[in-house]
Amino acid sequence: MEARAGGGSSDRSYGVVTLGWRRRGSGRRAAEQPNDSLNNPEDDEDDVVDLAANSLLNKLIHQSLVESSHLVEVLQKDPSSPLYSVKTFEELRLKEEILKGIYAMGFNRPSKIQEMALPMMLAHPPQNLIAQSQSGTGKTAAFVLAMLSRVNALDMFPQCLCLAPTYELALQTGHVVEQMGKFCMNVNVMYAIRGNHIPRGTEVTKQIVIGTPGTVLDWCFKRKLIDLTKIRVFVLDEADVMMDTQGFSDQSIRIQRALPSECQMLLFSATFEDSVLQFAERIIPDPNVIKLRKEELTLNNIQQYYVLCENKKDKYQALCNIYGGITIGQAIIFCQTRRNAKWLTVEMMQDGHQVSLLSGELTVDQRASIIQRFRDGKEKVLITTNVCARGIDVKQVTIVVNFDLPTNQALEPDYETYLHRIGRTGRFGKKGLAFNMIEVNKLPLLMQIQDHFNSSIKHLDPEDMDEIEKIEY
Ligand code: ADP
Repeated sequence: MEARAGGGSSDRSYGVVTLGWRRRGSGRRAAEQPNDSLNNPEDDEDDVVDLAANSLLNKLIHQSLVESSHLVEVLQKDPSSPLYSVKTFEELRLKEEILKGIYAMGFNRPSKIQEMALPMMLAHPPQNLIAQSQSGTGKTAAFVLAMLSRVNALDMFPQCLCLAPTYELALQTGHVVEQMGKFCMNVNVMYAIRGNHIPRGTEVTKQIVIGTPGTVLDWCFKRKLIDLTKIRVFVLDEADVMMDTQGFSDQSIRIQRALPSECQMLLFSATFEDSVLQFAERIIPDPNVIKLRKEELTLNNIQQYYVLCENKKDKYQALCNIYGGITIGQAIIFCQTRRNAKWLTVEMMQDGHQVSLLSGELTVDQRASIIQRFRDGKEKVLITTNVCARGIDVKQVTIVVNFDLPTNQALEPDYETYLHRIGRTGRFGKKGLAFNMIEVNKLPLLMQIQDHFNSSIKHLDPEDMDEIEKIEY
């Protein structure tokens, strides 16, 4: 399994990939409680947060850069050396064919993280780097550019090695190499992933190898297909996901230890908990560290309402009234259980609404396609449970409905989830409107949410159409 980065058509013969895997044991469990409709536990199996699946989903749906209003924070390995940042790709003095590739991808200028990271990555002598920024901010494009810049097309052996947590994420990075390296003649990619059988005695002549830690380890030490002493650039991508996968940290460290001291080492992560930073500093010697803070979510600009209801039928009726009373652009409706989400989808469809259901039992590919259709405006309403929509940023959505209030396992309000569902990022966020459908006994929880965020949630009578029609947003 290999692909050409430049000078020809790429080999996409890896076929259809089933993306709907679930790793056992490592996923954090979401809080989904019993409610009036929960009597078949299987039907309401919790959605498991799978970091690798989420990461892939983000990659599939981020077709443009995620903006940030923060400044990049830099911790330099040598604080006395001047800091460079670039505003244009020309300043980097890249090879002509790479520049052509970047422009062909539609990039006009470096992203925020790239402004700082690229000069460090392309410096002479090479510098090691640990970089953290949220998904979609341009990390992959940055290290692919660094790999392509350091490759010597005339040397027919692996020179750049990139570790990724899953087969699918490795392929995604490979696609970026193919796109950006489109004009780099004779630069090729090889995938060191399970299932890619290399016959005995084969020599790996591709310059860039992207793979998962276990298979790379096997290719390096057991099968001796890769000579680690010849690697010039080592990339450890998605470090937080790597750490979440048993065995990957140790395998990555074993690989890193066999690299020559002059090899450039780069590590990327979307999140930066202490454990990730500790791992990063263990594996990357003498690094520069750069971080781009995530945009914070706020409830300013969001008008919040609550509607008191008896049961879910009542909630649905209230929703229909609101739906009939105001012109709704696009709405996301959150349910606490899959069963409720399914029920609501069927009800709405029967009433002639165009809705789609995003649920944890779908494969990542299917989820990505549902989100994409919604983003394209093909469906007006997206019904979902907590987990699948976490971290998915659908900017044009003006209305969010909590069909069930988010609560944790102890039946306390889940503030973080509430904020994630309804909040917008301050600078880029538009105005928004949120409706909470509340059973009377849940009202104290809602009041706790109101106090916690110190932002008012107003009562709305779903029968009072005049009042509903007055809502402006
Ligand atoms: P990350 O690795 O941080 O998730 P990516 O490198 O995958 O981010 O970039 C996210 C999206 O932004 C991709 O669609 C990518 O093609 C695009 N992108 C990356 N860098 C730039 C840039 N400088 N200008 C415009 N788009 C970019």
